[in-house]
Amino acid sequence: MALPKRKHSKSRRDKSRTHWKLATKSLTTCPQCAKQILPHRACSGCGTYRGRQVVVVAEKKPKKGASQS
Ligand SMILES: [Zn+2]
Repeated sequence: MALPKRKHSKSRRDKSRTHWKLATKSLTTCPQCAKQILPHRACSGCGTYRGRQVVVVAEKKPKKGASQS
């Protein structure tokens, strides 16, 4: 099996890693509630997809310890 002749320096390794980057996700806006959503997915805010209700979105529970008035 072929093997590298020499060890790559830390500098060379680190220079190569400068190209490791996170790609920004492309987001679209929900036409129903204007929330930022992933394309081709049902909206997590209102549960609609292409103008139709497809998911029943549960209402947010009040946080523990939060006093109710
Ligand atoms: Zn929505």
